[in-house]
Amino acid sequence: MRMEKERNDVVAFGNKLISAGLTTGTGGNVSVFNRKQGLVAVSPSALDYADTRPQDVVLVSPEGEVVEGTRKPSSETPLHLAHYRVRPDVCGIAHTHSVFATTIATLRWEIPPMHYLVAFSGKKVPLAPYATHGTEELARVTSEAIGDSNAVLMANHGLIALGVDLAAAFATAEIVELMAQIYYQAKSIGEPVNLTDAEMDDVLAGFADYGQGK
Ligand SMILES: [Zn+2]
Repeated sequence: MRMEKERNDVVAFGNKLISAGLTTGTGGNVSVFNRKQGLVAVSPSALDYADTRPQDVVLVSPEGEVVEGTRKPSSETPLHLAHYRVRPDVCGIAHTHSVFATTIATLRWEIPPMHYLVAFSGKKVPLAPYATHGTEELARVTSEAIGDSNAVLMANHGLIALGVDLAAAFATAEIVELMAQIYYQAKSIGEPVNLTDAEMDDVLAGFADYGQGK
């Protein structure tokens, strides 16, 4: 079985999506790109995370052809592949429907820099326009909207988070969900004050020093 480590990561972080409350049922999906081997390990379609074994994880080419696996790859595989194409620095992706991030995405708002941890994404969490789930159109509009951020809200749908590996992508998805919850709460009683561009530059420089990317 090829890419055993990547398959194990897809299983482990799929389960973590559920245990961390970032998704329910078979919602959301994760992937790992081994750029040396030119293969992406992606969650299988419509299989409960608890029932997913490493051999159920599907290996696809960057063009989306199934190279190894008996299951169907996640219907959002084109979404993952589009982000790997536009972001050569990325080797792990988590896509979730986490509640607060999706709430903000239904309002079609971005998350501004109202807390320093927004820097896990960048200077904000941008918003991608709506397109039907599982389509090349969704993959295109979302990967165009993300720019150099590590996360983007998907209008009326959810969130996608990128990282140098799946652990980093997962951490960003978790932090963006926390940021969305804080933004929601702050907006419900007042108007949060945003950090300035210079203040966010300082945070991002600090993150780079700690080797957390950006
Ligand atoms: Zn989705």
